[in-house]
Amino acid sequence: MTHPKGLYLLFATEMSERFSYYGMRALLTLYMVAALFTMDSASEVYGTFTSLVYLTPLIGGYIADRYWGNRRSILTGGICMAIGQLLMFLSASVIQPSIHTAGGAIDTSVDNSMALWLMFGGLGMLVLGNGLFKPNIATMVGDLYEQDDHRKDSAFTIFYMGVNIGALLAPLICGLFEGDFMHPGRFRWGFLVACIVISLSMLMFWLLKSRFLVTPEGYQIGLPPGKRPESLKVPNQPLNRRDYIHMLVIVILAVFVIFFWAAYEQAGVSLTYFADQQTDKTFWGWEMPTSWFQTFPAFFCVVLAPVMNWLWQRMGRFEPHPIQKLAIGLLLLSLSYLVIAIGVKDVAPGVKVSILWITSLYFIQELGELSLSPIGLSLVSRLSPRRFASLMMGIWYLSSAVSNFCAGKLATLYPEAGQVKHLAGIEISNLYEFFLIFVCMSAAAGLLLLALCPPLKRMMK
Ligand code: GLN
Repeated sequence: MTHPKGLYLLFATEMSERFSYYGMRALLTLYMVAALFTMDSASEVYGTFTSLVYLTPLIGGYIADRYWGNRRSILTGGICMAIGQLLMFLSASVIQPSIHTAGGAIDTSVDNSMALWLMFGGLGMLVLGNGLFKPNIATMVGDLYEQDDHRKDSAFTIFYMGVNIGALLAPLICGLFEGDFMHPGRFRWGFLVACIVISLSMLMFWLLKSRFLVTPEGYQIGLPPGKRPESLKVPNQPLNRRDYIHMLVIVILAVFVIFFWAAYEQAGVSLTYFADQQTDKTFWGWEMPTSWFQTFPAFFCVVLAPVMNWLWQRMGRFEPHPIQKLAIGLLLLSLSYLVIAIGVKDVAPGVKVSILWITSLYFIQELGELSLSPIGLSLVSRLSPRRFASLMMGIWYLSSAVSNFCAGKLATLYPEAGQVKHLAGIEISNLYEFFLIFVCMSAAAGLLLLALCPPLKRMMK
């Protein structure tokens, strides 16, 4: 199956943007804890930030559809993110050691307010930049093809590999610049790498966009509404009933997807605690850094993406409908947590288990992600009325904003020795019960979505 060259430009742009984003994200909590905050406050800032970055795509999508077009929005977003990373670099450049021991008391006589404000400014620019960038790059992938082109699922899966190659390399490279409470300034080099990569990415996009970002007929895509060639102009007529029904389908699916990402995003929180405290990471005397576990999902995603693409094609007429694929994604996620829940069933707090459990979880989870995330993007691209294509992408990403927020709340239920936690009156006192939350949550959502498949399919017609 061949794809337009523009796909590979979008692939490279997204890969480097995600590198920059995930590289900074891998350092963010560590930086805050080493230099500025207690762990609780750092987790709160992190949760708010990761949730807000997926809220602003709604605005970015609207601005692109209405005024700027995708290209200008992507470039402006990229520049905002480069400024954001630069502010993070400056923050870590003026930071002074103020914490006595790792996770210990803060020396209040050291004034780090400048570093703090630079950091908040940086995070603000990243939130804004991501909002302008993220929905628009995905919309452009869809625009390279005819609305109903059968290559779209495969195109979005390739694009999604780009996302994950960036996410895979980022913690490995930016992670080299981890500082600590005695040397918090070291973090700045990681933020600088992130800044340079996003700047180069924007330069490449700016230079190559006109050459490669064209429709099958050769018309430029991603231009502002007024500058589009006649054939791509969206007729200025009100949306019809069919458009509204299609938009409703996207909203319904986005609600289901919340359950997926809320469990998936445990990777950055509870699964990191699990990797840190209850997983045996020692091999022949060498201990693997906990932050490396964050690269597992991206690694499996990159490796499994071609397999999944091949599999869908091989199934021919038995290939599941995209909505069924989303439901399969949710069920696979449920299975991944079931495997780990069973694996740790009788493990006492503090006892370490084999690395195979968390590895199996990520492996199955990634089969689920590939069945849900790129297919979801492709569906949104297919169902959105052209005039609101980017706004609808923004709505799709809104579910990730809700999920990231919920993920943080659910992670607080992670069992700690001597504490009993409650979820809706149910006691959560061990790892088995904790992981079962995600098993049930995603299985229920997956099964309900399977049951709703026939009416949703009818609505898509
Ligand atoms: N990991 C993907 C990305 O960074 C998915 C994000 C999401 O939809 N939550 O683009």
